[in-house]
Amino acid sequence: MCYNGNRNFFKKVIFLAERIYTIPVNEIFEEKDGCPICRLRDILEERSLEYILGPAMMESDIRIETNKMGFCKEHFFMMASRRSRLPLALMIETHLDEVKKNIKNKKYRPDKSEIKSGNVEKKSCYVCDRIEWSKQRMYATIAKLYSEEMSFRELFRNQPQICFNHYRELMAFAAPKVSSKWKREFEKDVDSITMKTLEEIRDDVHHFTKMFDYRNAGENADFGNSRDSIERAIKYMTTRMPGEK
Ligand SMILES: [Zn+2]
Ligand SMILES: [Zn+2]
Repeated sequence: MCYNGNRNFFKKVIFLAERIYTIPVNEIFEEKDGCPICRLRDILEERSLEYILGPAMMESDIRIETNKMGFCKEHFFMMASRRSRLPLALMIETHLDEVKKNIKNKKYRPDKSEIKSGNVEKKSCYVCDRIEWSKQRMYATIAKLYSEEMSFRELFRNQPQICFNHYRELMAFAAPKVSSKWKREFEKDVDSITMKTLEEIRDDVHHFTKMFDYRNAGENADFGNSRDSIERAIKYMTTRMPGEK
């Protein structure tokens, strides 16, 4: 990539990041529906997919990156379920050319450490990469707001859920950036929200298993909130509902 190409690419990335970055964290936390980081990820994901199947198609610098990185299964599936068939086909065509070139140049031959680990799956995804990049900035903003604003601490504390993966991410990437005065409080909030979510879902799954008892069968069977408890448990552990696109 020439210097100009490089500079243009970073300009594009910054432009994309700014668009994504304009999601006000406060707004995400005001909604109070499920895990706030899942909601944030969904918005970032939607914007990334919209961008790469739309305006980015005309941007050769972005195409160079998508050719190189490709996509994970999840994001390939999400793009394939959209209407933008021609942009997707064009992008896949040049990505396949890149794969072809690299196979020819033996670039994809697994190295010794991959063979030793027993895992030779090639993992890189342009969308995941962009989401992670933006999410890291969001975690810094969450930490800043929590350290400085009482109203945000209140919003954070009143979140109905935090899923397992995002509990770990909040502890890893936001907690260390919270001011020392509020760090312990932040960790306590994250712990208690994820634990409350887990207990509710676990109780619903338990209730569901009890519905298979013949004593609970019949017209008056009271499933309570347990009918979709398996799906909600899977979402808690993976951030995605089964079949969710
Ligand atoms: Zn989540
Ligand atoms: Zn991905």
